[in-house]
Amino acid sequence: MNKRDYLYHLGMEWQEDKPTDVIRRFADVRYILLGGKPKRMQALAQQFFLEMGKLKLDHTVEEIKEVSEAGRYVMYKVGPVLTVSHGMGRPSLSILLEELAKLLYYAKMHEKELLKKPISFLRLGTCGGLGIDPGSLIVSSEAVMHHLTPQLEKYCLDKKMVFSGAFDSELREKIIDFHKKNRIESPIHIGKTMTADDFYLGQGRLDGYFKSDLNEVTRKDFFVKAHKLGIRNFEMEAAELAGFCNRPGSPLNMVAATICVALLDRMHGDQVESSPTQIQAWENGLLHFAASFVCSTLSSN
Ligand code: URA
Repeated sequence: MNKRDYLYHLGMEWQEDKPTDVIRRFADVRYILLGGKPKRMQALAQQFFLEMGKLKLDHTVEEIKEVSEAGRYVMYKVGPVLTVSHGMGRPSLSILLEELAKLLYYAKMHEKELLKKPISFLRLGTCGGLGIDPGSLIVSSEAVMHHLTPQLEKYCLDKKMVFSGAFDSELREKIIDFHKKNRIESPIHIGKTMTADDFYLGQGRLDGYFKSDLNEVTRKDFFVKAHKLGIRNFEMEAAELAGFCNRPGSPLNMVAATICVALLDRMHGDQVESSPTQIQAWENGLLHFAASFVCSTLSSN
């Protein structure tokens, strides 16, 4: 029987006897850049188009319409780079990663010499810093969840599954090196990232709808403890990305890194008070940094 797989959230179908289109479109992918907002990922694709053009790399742009029309995510392909929006939080990212990995598998990325070069997933996001100035960049060494250990915990029905929350050290070092060599203005930190279930309760905010069980003192105690353990930021996706790429049994060679820009220092409060213009400038800076970094690695091999 002809095997088929409908990647429902991407709106894309693969059929064993008609795989050519999938292979043609995705077989050369080397980097997958992920970010929450659809518009940012479109802007990032434009940024890649410009940077790759300057370096005379393949910079053919394609908006992957099926994905956009499925209504959940957007995806652009610029040469060997995909830019994809993942929405907010672990569940949304998890679904995307499963279907993206299947797509790359169907494109036969696990075969031949391609396996020698990993597929790099790079998440770009915003976060709450911990003892870090707003506007700084944080590259995650490991993602921790509420228990502050570097692990992704998930449930398969009632069965708990645990995967390592460590990010790829080689990719991280390359990012740090690039930042140093190019004298990027925003400071960069390496640190552990706490991936929370949500923005309010999970990140210990006191400004949610319900009165919190925490108070300023108990919350500060937690923040100080977390900071001592090397945690430098809070967000909602890093553990999912690290855990997915570290899950044993993958035919694809996947590595991951996360770079986030801090919108505030949680040691000093809950509210994101920087102006929209300032936040946009920080986010644009991060996109520009990531696109130049990826292009420099692509042009050097
Ligand atoms: N994103 C988060 O998840 N938390 C913050 O505090 C800011 C951005």
